[in-house]
Amino acid sequence: MKSPADMKVIQIELTNACPMRCANCTRFCGHHTRPFFMDFETFKKAVDSLKGFRGIVGIMGGEPTQHPEFRRFMEYYRANVGYDDSTARLIEPSADFMRHVLANGYHVDYGNRRGLWTSVTPRYYENFELIQDTFGYQLLNDHSHTSMHQTHMVTRKELGIPDDEWIKLRDRCWVQNLWSASITPKGAFFCEIAAAMDATLGGPGGWPIEPGWWMRKPQDFKEQLDWCEMCSACLPMPSRDANDETDDVSPVWAAKLQEINSPKLRKGLVNTFDPVAYQKDQHSIIQKPTPYMDDQENRMGKSRNRLVPQHVTHVAWLSANIAAEQARVFLQGRKEAGQLDAVASQTPAHAALAAEFDLPLLTGAQALSDLIAAARTPDWVLMVRDTPAPAYLHGLIDGCVFNPGVAYCSDGPGECFRFFNLRASSLQVGGDLFDIGASYPAQKRVALEESRPDDYRLSDLGMFIRRAYKRVVWLKRKLDGKPVTRGPLGEIKSNRISG
Ligand code: SF4
Ligand code: SF4
Repeated sequence: MKSPADMKVIQIELTNACPMRCANCTRFCGHHTRPFFMDFETFKKAVDSLKGFRGIVGIMGGEPTQHPEFRRFMEYYRANVGYDDSTARLIEPSADFMRHVLANGYHVDYGNRRGLWTSVTPRYYENFELIQDTFGYQLLNDHSHTSMHQTHMVTRKELGIPDDEWIKLRDRCWVQNLWSASITPKGAFFCEIAAAMDATLGGPGGWPIEPGWWMRKPQDFKEQLDWCEMCSACLPMPSRDANDETDDVSPVWAAKLQEINSPKLRKGLVNTFDPVAYQKDQHSIIQKPTPYMDDQENRMGKSRNRLVPQHVTHVAWLSANIAAEQARVFLQGRKEAGQLDAVASQTPAHAALAAEFDLPLLTGAQALSDLIAAARTPDWVLMVRDTPAPAYLHGLIDGCVFNPGVAYCSDGPGECFRFFNLRASSLQVGGDLFDIGASYPAQKRVALEESRPDDYRLSDLGMFIRRAYKRVVWLKRKLDGKPVTRGPLGEIKSNRISG
């Protein structure tokens, strides 16, 4: 076992609510009649308690973005943990967002001391800019592909494993050695699964969330180790595809789930595991940090479609000097294409033309606020001036993930458009609709040129270069004496606690 001080990651669990119901979830999602949502004071205590910890302070759930105060929590986190890593931020469109994430932040060792574990729900999309601005390391897994989860809801006593053998196995547990200690609203724990069991089964709670709790050594874990008696993560056990949604549990666990009135049990999504039929030779002990998936690029499947622009409000922008007939033809064409929701013009004289098409005219200093009020969904806006958007732009919008915090613009020959998102942090204090780029900092403005989604697909060489660059940045910070995440990936330690 490891002291949390020697771990790569310590998690703060914002909630154990999750819209998914994966088989053998380590957070027991689906078994809670009422999930927890950490309160802000506890979250602050949790963050503050980890001052001095050199690893990643992970934000996890359940699905952490489901927390109703996710944004407020992240503001505190960002101000108190790690540093902003502009190399990890998505700025240009991305035709393969998973590759972008893997290139920038897959290596726990080279992150910015901030990490997010998420299944990429619609709430992720809503918080996209904040997430890119905050996290250097994102562990995405939408479970839309095969992802093997080992059962951990079996007790060693039911399998007849004697004490001496058990203690060796327990002390080499991969979860505790390769992953995380954890903080829930009920306290701090030496192991994330122990923390989740305590929250699910109504345990006594963890250690007080106070500075330095994580410096405890394995010999200090004491009564928390009782949770291991309920857990089979360290044993050779069968696995199941997360998408099956069914948990494999032992009879002792089935009785516990009955006691807590588990919704998953009531729905029949529990398979009672027969300890007598158990054959340990048919399974192996996990020894690597991500045993559930071989191909990391498969971590995002259907969720990619949730991240491409979901709602686009179309604004036809009329130049002051456009001829009336040309303007009418332009508006009629946009209307026939189903791409006309509002008219924008710096000339109030275009009000009559807008009225002809039964549309609001966005004009003057309040044009942006009028647009926000008029948009059915506060999402993307495509504003095109005098001519339709070029075909390539529609190809990019259909095929790429864009960062809603960035303004994408073109003033190319024969085309003039602005593609931006009403949720952008840069627009929250207002702005000039007719000079929208001016509201954004330089690093969040992108001039688009004719291109195809494939031009925004990260090559193997591109990934290599980005990873190498991250290592250089990490090394430079280290040499400058700045806080960095610890060195190379961890290994399983066999620290004997007792026996
Ligand atoms: S997405 Fe993660 S937290 Fe949610 S049910 Fe699946 S494994 Fe559990
Ligand atoms: S056996 Fe279970 S509770 Fe114990 S350290 Fe391993 S994962 Fe945690």
